[in-house]
Amino acid sequence: MRAVRLTHWGGPPVVTEVDRPTPRGEEVLVRVEAAGLCGSDLHVLDAEPGALPYLAPFTLGHEVAGRVAELGPDATGPRTGERVVVYGPWGCGRCGRCSAGAENYCDRRPELDAARTGTGAGLGRDGGLADFLLVPSARLLLPVGDLAPTQAAPLSDAGLTAFHAVAGIRPVPGGTEGGAGTSVAVIGVGGLGHLAVQILRAVTSAQVLAVDVRETAISLAHDCGAHFGTVVRPDTAEVLRGRTGGAGVDAVLDFVGTSATLRLGVRALRPGGDLALVGSGGGELTVRKPGALPSGIRLSLPFWGTRPELGEVVALARSGAVTVETSLFQLTEAPAAIGALRAGGIRGRAVLVPG
Ligand code: NAD
Ligand code: ZN
Ligand code: ZN
Repeated sequence: MRAVRLTHWGGPPVVTEVDRPTPRGEEVLVRVEAAGLCGSDLHVLDAEPGALPYLAPFTLGHEVAGRVAELGPDATGPRTGERVVVYGPWGCGRCGRCSAGAENYCDRRPELDAARTGTGAGLGRDGGLADFLLVPSARLLLPVGDLAPTQAAPLSDAGLTAFHAVAGIRPVPGGTEGGAGTSVAVIGVGGLGHLAVQILRAVTSAQVLAVDVRETAISLAHDCGAHFGTVVRPDTAEVLRGRTGGAGVDAVLDFVGTSATLRLGVRALRPGGDLALVGSGGGELTVRKPGALPSGIRLSLPFWGTRPELGEVVALARSGAVTVETSLFQLTEAPAAIGALRAGGIRGRAVLVPG
């Protein structure tokens, strides 16, 4: 079968042929119908050797949807031929967190990282940028019914992570002068951000304010229902505060995570607000008391989401409340798709189909 592999750290992805795996024990083989490309794939490709807690080589691709092709002898759950999406963060499957469906926060993660066994499909273990994906257990598969695979795949990370970040925002008491209501700033309207805008519109009544460095991303934010959007400018924080009657935004979802966006988020935030750092941009923020951060704010580092939340985001998509904006590529065009993502040439999510 074909696979897009990271053969050595820092090297370009390689489209190659590998053996099709055979499911053993509880494993399930999925025939891939669509796989999304994530901003994290760029971080993985660019990582220095030893920077991530897993070893190369492996097949890329951690946002995967397809059909069940073959069940291992002990696998129970989906039927052969059933359409599924793959829950991406693979934990130990047994600890308290995993038992509750929160494998994104597996209690055994430090042990698993120390063993360098990989954190999931396409992240140290063979992923879904391939014709087939071997999944360790049917517990990691969610049936998606008649949802198109090119929609389902991006929901498993871009959709789920955005949903989990939105779910972590607390309602803040107190209205705002001028009746501007609750407001949330979304910084970075790419794969994750454009779904966050839609999820915010679907599950909250907040005013959604979008920020990006690209005009095309702002136009996408408007198409996704953002009330306001601006490209980054020297006074972005003041512009955002202006949209809230001066009080500041109730929450910031930072899908970039550089020092510049963290500073912007803090300057735009209302006292008692939420700052969710989702992007892996490697930026830093000084937390000190007394200090420059607005009083009462809560900082969170949401990582992916839970299996029940994946069910919720799939339900939102099936209801039509959330639609992934996709840029489609053939699997063998992966290097070009990765180049386009790096160059800021993707609107929404790049999704690869085996074809
Ligand atoms: P993406 O490339 O699709 O989107 C990033 C967006 O941010 C683009 O629209 C880009 O124009 C914009 N941007 C870049 N610099 C900016 C700046 N300084 N100010 C404002 N906007 C800026 O990437 P993605 O797949 O949406 O991923 C976003 C980030 O989230 C990545 O760092 C990725 O590694 C991370 N991520 C985290 C999790 C998690 O669980 N925490 C999950 C998936 C992705
Ligand atoms: Zn990702
Ligand atoms: Zn666990």
